[in-house]
Amino acid sequence: MSETIIGIDLGTTNSAVAAIIDGRPQIIPVHGRDTMPSVVGIDADGKVIVGQAARNQLAAAPERTVESIKRRMGENAKVPLGGREFSPEEISAFILKELKSAAEEKLGRPVGKAVITVPAYFNEHQRKATQAAGQIAGMEVVRIINEPTAAALAYGADRHENESLLVYDLGGGTFDVSVVAVERGVVEVKASHGDTRLGGDDFDQLLADELLSAFLMDGEPAPDLITRRRLRALVEPAKCQLTDEPDVAFREEYFLGDRHLQHELRRDEYEKLIEPLIEKTFASVHRAMSDAGLAAADIDKIMLVGGASRTPLIHAMLADRLDIEPSAEINPDLIVALGAAIQAGIVAGERGSGVLIDITPHGYSTATVAPDGYGITCFPLIRRNTPLPARKADLFNTIVDSQERARIEVYQGESPDPEENSLIGDFLIDGLSLVPAGNRIRIEYHLDLNGILRATALEKSTGLVKSVTIDTKGEHVVELEAARRNIAALLGEEPPGADADAGDEHEDLLAAANELRKRAEALLKTGIGEDDENDIRQVLDATQIALKDGDSSAVEKHNDTLSDLLFYLED
Ligand code: AMP
Repeated sequence: MSETIIGIDLGTTNSAVAAIIDGRPQIIPVHGRDTMPSVVGIDADGKVIVGQAARNQLAAAPERTVESIKRRMGENAKVPLGGREFSPEEISAFILKELKSAAEEKLGRPVGKAVITVPAYFNEHQRKATQAAGQIAGMEVVRIINEPTAAALAYGADRHENESLLVYDLGGGTFDVSVVAVERGVVEVKASHGDTRLGGDDFDQLLADELLSAFLMDGEPAPDLITRRRLRALVEPAKCQLTDEPDVAFREEYFLGDRHLQHELRRDEYEKLIEPLIEKTFASVHRAMSDAGLAAADIDKIMLVGGASRTPLIHAMLADRLDIEPSAEINPDLIVALGAAIQAGIVAGERGSGVLIDITPHGYSTATVAPDGYGITCFPLIRRNTPLPARKADLFNTIVDSQERARIEVYQGESPDPEENSLIGDFLIDGLSLVPAGNRIRIEYHLDLNGILRATALEKSTGLVKSVTIDTKGEHVVELEAARRNIAALLGEEPPGADADAGDEHEDLLAAANELRKRAEALLKTGIGEDDENDIRQVLDATQIALKDGDSSAVEKHNDTLSDLLFYLED
């Protein structure tokens, strides 16, 4: 029997695990349910809790609970939890470990390998962070696949008719849309588009803002973070209720001081609030269709993925604009995990049928001197929607005589204007031959099936790659061993290692405070509401004082508050 590889949908709000069992993809329940909240906490006894138990304590013990960690994957962040600090990868590893052990219990043997899904719009850092999280959880991540791709695979793997599918995936925190062709069991993603910061959580925020503006008296300041969190917890189930009911009533005793919150909202009022956000998703839908060269009439089916895709207004707008009734043949909460299990089965050699051709949703460019000799322009090596794996190379010339070195800059994006792309890395090739300008350098980009990019520069005349230095700008490498020890210690699996050096800890706090300050300053420049601005300035001032006093625990507390504020206010 081939080894079982599990398929994991590591979601912002909920996660799920599946595997090929008895020849077909099946969801493996975790704590008795098909999906598990992606929440990690420390309970009152200092024990790690994952899933529903952690979600239950979210409102009461926010300082001991972490949610939506997926939104921070790829960030060099320290997330405080139960008096310790963890990277986003480590927090995700707690979730993955829980899914892994549910699978082991169900299958009756150890599981060492997994396929994990990510939004199509995850960049290199976020993909690498996801891979690292799997490794920290004790699994080899044999493949990272895009969520809409997995969904299409779940739908298309057993079909024999030829179809063009539109996969509309709106989860808690991210939106992806893909145009996918299914031909005799072969699933090919033709184009993908999306928004990494748009999801059902934003609907909650709009609803919370609406309730708050109706509740607050003229000129009354916004309530504190804890109250706002209570409100968010209140609106989420109400929002889901509006999917099935025409109206909803909110009642919360002693919401603010001795004032009770009491409000009623009709579905059509709610829909007016969220319509602009749904409209935003349609810009991506049209872009994906035009990238794939398809018109609405060419689409055979619309598949809905992600919890928030259940919103009736989304059905209505899709049906209206594309003239097809969206189908929800497979549960939108489970379809991605099922697709991941099918891909896992293919990797494990369990299924002969079902071939996955994936594409890159991003283009990748390198910077060169503009043709007129002035300024810098970006030259795309890998274009977006290129099937993976992709290997593309081109020749570039040195621009001055005896040029000994050249800096190669790697951009995500295809715009000729570097400002419109994002610099994801750069490196130096030096020790080039001392020849006149025009020395030819071959630059190659290799994008693997996990969407991870490797860039190489080669001097053509010598045929050798010369002293290449990769400057992993903005990227942080997680120390896997330390991370494993860190989470194992908390799970009581191993005696905890020596405590982190206090000096290092303080430096990390300082770095985190700096990073947060930069984000806050950028946000303040965009012109936010007066109350929010005051909140942010207060925390920045308090952080400054704590830094001056060398009070690490105060810095940590203020960092946490600021990070929360930014989470709600950014975008
Ligand atoms: P996911 O990330 O796919 O688990 O999706 C989670 C998001 O879907 C959250 O914002 C949920 O509030 C939202 N959601 C779940 N069920 C429903 C529903 N019945 N109606 C509207 N939104 C929902």
